[in-house]
Amino acid sequence: MALIVQKYGGSSVANPERIRRVAERVCRTRKTGHQVVVVVSALGDTTDELLGLAAQVSKSPPEREMDMLLATGEQVAAALLAMATQALGARALSFTGAQVGIITDRDHTKARIQDVSAQRIRQALAKGYVVIVTGFQGITPDHEITTLGRGGSDLTAVALAHALKAKTCEIYTDVEGVYTADPRVVPNARKLPALSYEEMLELASLGAQVMQARSMEMAKKYEVPLHVRSSFSRRTGTIISKEVKAMEEVVVSGVSLQKDEAKVTICDVPDRPGIAATIFTRISDANVNVDMIVQNVSRTGLTDVSFTVGRGDLKKVLRVARRVAGEVKAGRVVHDDGIAKISVVGLGMRSHSGIAAKMFQALAKESINIDMISTSEIKISCIIRKDQAARAVKVIHDVFGLDKLGIKPELVKTRK
Ligand code: ASP
Ligand code: MG
Repeated sequence: MALIVQKYGGSSVANPERIRRVAERVCRTRKTGHQVVVVVSALGDTTDELLGLAAQVSKSPPEREMDMLLATGEQVAAALLAMATQALGARALSFTGAQVGIITDRDHTKARIQDVSAQRIRQALAKGYVVIVTGFQGITPDHEITTLGRGGSDLTAVALAHALKAKTCEIYTDVEGVYTADPRVVPNARKLPALSYEEMLELASLGAQVMQARSMEMAKKYEVPLHVRSSFSRRTGTIISKEVKAMEEVVVSGVSLQKDEAKVTICDVPDRPGIAATIFTRISDANVNVDMIVQNVSRTGLTDVSFTVGRGDLKKVLRVARRVAGEVKAGRVVHDDGIAKISVVGLGMRSHSGIAAKMFQALAKESINIDMISTSEIKISCIIRKDQAARAVKVIHDVFGLDKLGIKPELVKTRK
């Protein structure tokens, strides 16, 4: 009997009524003759509310206790869904990540999965149960509860789908799938029938809220077949799979916009070997992820080094940057949080030329200035002004004709 893993995000289980609807869907899937493993997130905004509670009792809550707290959200959801499923006459059992053997490292609040035994899941499935597992959490080898980082239920689902060799891993959300752009910004954005792991990974890292980036890394590594779809409809969503030839014909699959970055510039940095190494070692020691980096050409032996970071890290990184600027005898440190990053992603970029030029021309025509540029094999990103971002997304969506149908769904073969 084939197995399907279904993951329901917080909005799909936001209240008892929705939990009952999820239970109905789970039962329907079961009736098609499949075994079903369900991974749930916490109800609605529970995780944010728990974070808020913690902030009210402590300025810096210990991460171990944070995990004790946050893990409860998913436990509520799993138990309620098990009850709702049983109320419909199906056999169902809920388990925590710890109970089903999701073993992680000790890095509280952003732990990495090291091993999944899934022993109890297999036993329960064999007895005909629908198995419901709390997303977002695991346990260390010495029995400490850990969580997997925000959005971590996706990771739980992908890890279980891999461990149990599921036929497919369905990710249920409140949108119909992955779109060519955010439909709230671009009204004629289109649902993508299919997408490669590489593209989805780029889009997830670029802030598309659909799936956690780490879960996409794992899905790509183990080629776990994914189906991103809506919990409010029965329509097919977006299939994410290994790249197939047809995907290369689509030059650009999507445009994404990220508005939560800030730019930091260290002025007048001495242009000598080892200086960049010193600067970015200090920043990484402070546990801050740097995104884009640009260093100007120096004509005077001094150069400006600019980089972008998540806005949440801005205060911390400014402190570090000012200190290290003193250390390497550089000048002032300035920052700008009025920026946005706009990116186009597509496998076809590997075999088509002129994509960057087309993107820059579209921006130029709208008199939108580009501040920084970075590229990868399948992505081009530009930093622009935040107040021009919505317009930029629209013109780029237009210039690449993203409102028209791209890859045909029947060309994408998924694992049987
Ligand atoms: N409830 C957790 C969060 O909000 C995990 C998840 O939703 O995937 O981040
Ligand atoms: Mg959530």
